[in-house]
Amino acid sequence: MSTYQELYNQHEKKIEKTQLFFRASKSALYRNNWKKYNVNVDKLKGFNGLQSLPYSSANDLRRVWEAFSIEEIILTKNVAFWHCTSGSMGNKKWLPWTYHDYTRSRTELGETLLSFLKPDDIVMSIVLPVPYISGALAYRILESTASIGHPIEQITMSPDYVQDSFGLLLKRQPTAIMCTPSLALRMAEEIARNTPKVLKRQAELNKSAKLKIASLITKIKKIKPKRVFKNLRVGFFFAESLRPFRKVVEDQYSIEAFDIYAFTEGFGVGYECQEHNGLHFPSLNCVLEIIPEKELEKEQENPDYIPKAILLSEASKGLKGEIVISDFKEALPLLRYRVRDMIEVIAEDECGCGANSPRLKIIGRTDDIINLGVIRFSSAIVQQYLSREFKNGVIHRWDMVISREGFKPKLSLRIEPGEIKNEEKFKEELFTALYDFDVFQIGYDSELFIFDEIEFVDNLKLGIVGQGKTKRVKYHPNFFKEVKM
Ligand SMILES: [Zn+2]
Repeated sequence: MSTYQELYNQHEKKIEKTQLFFRASKSALYRNNWKKYNVNVDKLKGFNGLQSLPYSSANDLRRVWEAFSIEEIILTKNVAFWHCTSGSMGNKKWLPWTYHDYTRSRTELGETLLSFLKPDDIVMSIVLPVPYISGALAYRILESTASIGHPIEQITMSPDYVQDSFGLLLKRQPTAIMCTPSLALRMAEEIARNTPKVLKRQAELNKSAKLKIASLITKIKKIKPKRVFKNLRVGFFFAESLRPFRKVVEDQYSIEAFDIYAFTEGFGVGYECQEHNGLHFPSLNCVLEIIPEKELEKEQENPDYIPKAILLSEASKGLKGEIVISDFKEALPLLRYRVRDMIEVIAEDECGCGANSPRLKIIGRTDDIINLGVIRFSSAIVQQYLSREFKNGVIHRWDMVISREGFKPKLSLRIEPGEIKNEEKFKEELFTALYDFDVFQIGYDSELFIFDEIEFVDNLKLGIVGQGKTKRVKYHPNFFKEVKM
């Protein structure tokens, strides 16, 4: 038996020891749904019990937050921290973490981090601020590395604070960077854009001929971030696939890039090791399952079908499917929670880096999310904004194609109109409708994506995704190709 299977055996015992099912049945998140599926909590035992439970989802979380009091949802009297998700459906989901949830596995996390970081590293992180969980990242790194005697210096900022932090970053040069890959490239774009201006201004102020020449050269030759951040050596990237960005990010910043997988709802982090072939999922505080593709197809055909899943400890190389998470969070444990990410098992045996956990690759989504790295939103919320009445036309069907131009995602809205009174004005109205959606507005204004011209088409074919939902988001093959800058 592998050490990973042994860990899962311990987790199975922990399910009993912590009375996980009994506790969870007290939460409104599970109570009613379990009743609907005639779950007999007293009879649930170990993994068999777990795998007989219905799945839970982001929709369930959203629904209970609207309908119940906090006391009916959470299982502890005290909560240490509330985090929210970026609200891909519009409404935010709030997740409670107790202090124990927060501090557990601190030393393990510290040890893993210190296999990548050196005690004298300086980590610059550009993350969405609290209440997003990414806002807590720097503190987690500091506390966990400190717990084993090597507190690692953090310079952390939100994306809109990068410019104000530049003075510090130039004087206190970071050695590691942490952010979303597309944000790293957006920053590279700003550095290329602004460095000539800054140098020119400095040359004028100092009357320096050398700086004047430098400013002229930078006009012709784009300045890369590695010229500005000379000590950077590693980067950790999350929230979107690193694959298409890896080469260009490594080149722009002169770093070795590592992919990280995490989500707000609970435990279940994955990280890439020095082998750069898939992400390790150590499952320290969670049990992972995979719903194989075949089972997902059955569910697509029949939305009432509950697909079967395989424990990650028993999954074999090559298996593709959707990842499901159950965890041991005290305040609100996740039980069979579907994060809607598709994975492939790359390796199940011990890795060259010495870690024993299986390696997975994230290969896509099973829902209709438009993921632009820093921001993400679902097609359902776009539908809300597009379902208003327009003066100059009527929408019959619509979809959105996400392709890429340079390193930026390009959104193309395609409309099959019911009628058009004035094409140009209808397009303006449609854009205004999208622009009213705050997340879209932030992304558009901060140039995180390119919005293509709206296209009117004749015969729009919409597919099905997940449990019989209309699929409106299509990714163009060039979206996944290596980006250039
Ligand atoms: Zn490894």
